Amino acid sequence: MSKNYFLKCAKVNTEIYKNNLSILNFGNASIINKSRNSIYIKASGIFTKKCNEKDIVKVEIKKFKNNYQNPLRPSVDTDIHIELYKYLKNVGCIIHTHSEYSTIIAQSNIEPECYGTTHADYFYDKIPLSEKIYKVNKIRYEYQLGRSIINRLKKIKKYNPGILLRDHGLVAWGKNEQEAINNLIAIEFICRVYYKTKLLNKKPKIIKSVRKFHFERKHGKKSYYGQKK
Ligand SMILES: [Zn+2]
Repeated sequence: MSKNYFLKCAKVNTEIYKNNLSILNFGNASIINKSRNSIYIKASGIFTKKCNEKDIVKVEIKKFKNNYQNPLRPSVDTDIHIELYKYLKNVGCIIHTHSEYSTIIAQSNIEPECYGTTHADYFYDKIPLSEKIYKVNKIRYEYQLGRSIINRLKKIKKYNPGILLRDHGLVAWGKNEQEAINNLIAIEFICRVYYKTKLLNKKPKIIKSVRKFHFERKHGKKSYYGQKK
C-alpha cells in the first residue's frame, strides 16, 4: 500500500509537466494517506518531468520537523501542504505550480472577478488570493504561507478548488489526484481567459443570477451536473 502512494504521487507530479503547467523543477504535488497522518511529496529541487517513485519523500505529519533523517529532503513547501491538509479535511491531493497565467495574476495581486460561466463552474465569486505577508517569519516561512492561504479560505463558505498564492503562483486540490489535476488545469484556463477577456473589454459583466446558477447546478445542494455518484 505504502509503495502505491509513492507511485501515485510521482505520477501526479509528472502530470504537472505533461499538462504544461510548470517548467523545470517549479511546483510540487503531494497526496495524503488514508489515516491522514503522513503525506507523500516531491523531493526538493526535482524536475517534475523526471519525477519517479524514488523522488518522493514520505513525511509523517507530527514528526515533520525531525524528518530529515530521510536521505532526500522533501519540498520546501511541505509545511504549506501539511497546513492545508489539516484544514481541508476531504482533500486527498494538493498541487502547487507556477503555471503562466495564474502566476501573472498572482503577482499582479489580483483576485480575478467572474466574467463567464467557465469561472462560475468552479468559483462562486472571485478566485481567492492568499493574504498579504508584511513581515517574513524567517524560522517558519512556509508555515506562515500556509496560514496566509487558510486565513483567506476561512472567508469562503462555498466549494472552492484552489487559491492564487500572492506574488507567487497557484495551489489547487481535490479529493483525489485526478480531481486535483483537473482543478489545476481548469484554474489556469480560467486565469488565461480572464487575462484575455480584459484585453478586449476592461469591464466585462456577467449577470449575477447566471453566475450563481452555473455554480449551484454543479456544486449546490440541488446540483444536477455530471453523473450520479
Ligand atoms: Zn512555488
